[in-house]
Amino acid sequence: MKILGIETSCDETAAAVVEDGTRVLSSVIFSQIPLHVRTGGVVPEVAAREHVVKIVPVVEEALKKAGCGLEDIDAIAVTQGPGLLSSLVIGVSAASTLAAVLDKPLFPVNHIAGHIYANWLGEDSSDKIKFPVVVLTVSGGHNELVLMNKHASYKLIGETFDDAAGEAFDKVARLLGLGYPGGPQVSRVAFSGNARRFILPQAQMGKDSFNFSFSGLKTAVLNLEQKEYASTGSLSEEFIADCAASFQEAVCGVLTDKLLRAAEKFKAKEVHLAGGVSANKRLRAMAGEKVSGKHYFDHNGKKVELTSSFKLRFARDFSFCTDNAAMVAAAAYFENARHGTNRPVRKPKPGNLKSAGASRKKGNPNTAVLADPELRMYDIAR
Ligand code: ADP
Ligand code: MG
Repeated sequence: MKILGIETSCDETAAAVVEDGTRVLSSVIFSQIPLHVRTGGVVPEVAAREHVVKIVPVVEEALKKAGCGLEDIDAIAVTQGPGLLSSLVIGVSAASTLAAVLDKPLFPVNHIAGHIYANWLGEDSSDKIKFPVVVLTVSGGHNELVLMNKHASYKLIGETFDDAAGEAFDKVARLLGLGYPGGPQVSRVAFSGNARRFILPQAQMGKDSFNFSFSGLKTAVLNLEQKEYASTGSLSEEFIADCAASFQEAVCGVLTDKLLRAAEKFKAKEVHLAGGVSANKRLRAMAGEKVSGKHYFDHNGKKVELTSSFKLRFARDFSFCTDNAAMVAAAAYFENARHGTNRPVRKPKPGNLKSAGASRKKGNPNTAVLADPELRMYDIAR
């Protein structure tokens, strides 16, 4: 089954053609980063206008690169939410229009489910992903631990109470004068820094909690930066590198400690990293070190025993970590394979835009959806 995926939840206009949820025939991503550098972050109105300009050429290019015409596409998938409403509506309108005109099914996808399914892209039949899987989804807008016992089943086991890790990376980069987007910049300068120079706080949110909080860590970096300014009048390259490395170590420490603890508790076979921050090499390496032995030492130096072994995975290609449309097509495939046309319909709540399946012909119940900036997808598994 060939699915055309469309993603416009934030500042990437993306389209992709994916076959059977794993084989990427094309993935085209138009990033607006250069446009948002000036403002040091995304201005929703500016992002939305750029999506309008780019959506048709990006879809056309994805079809061309896949060697497909629209007639070869079996279904359209689109990010319905969460995200910026004014950005989401561009992708949702384009996808709904295509589905209606072509009379093909339209699969609305939750953006976080998309990130999760990036790890299925390029899956090798000799190395299939085994459930249960615990996924750490970490990006600019999301920071969650999700348990999957089977395809298209998402149990939320932990989330952030304030900032997401990617947001903390972006804010710390701004404090250190490193530019936008912050994650790649912080990780670049951290490479030459001393991660042990500053011991920064890692909020545990209670002994057995799987929730996160990064606001205290961010404030600690702010205090360091202000102290350094007050005493030296500037930030040296060495200070910036050490600060970035210490910050990165603290974030990766708390993320991987909780990921592994959740994997133990829920008897996972695999642990996955997903979302923009999963591109971070230190995060990958630290998770790799922790899963490779029978025990590891957490950030507080406490020995944690592992009773089973876990396979660690992250996206096969860096471009599938940050926002892209191939992940959206993959999620749609596996969700449709599990639920088909009987998949749960999200009922509209007053004051909150929800999925609205407009029925046209038999067999294609969804040819229109509404964008939902606050879309959630989880059962609660605590
Ligand atoms: P969204 O939050 O819209 O879902 P993405 O999934 O594209 O966005 O993730 C973007 C986030 O990932 C940004 O906050 C960015 O700083 C962060 N990020 C990207 N690469 C890295 C990296 N190498 N290290 C840490 N953070 C990163
Ligand atoms: Mg994202």
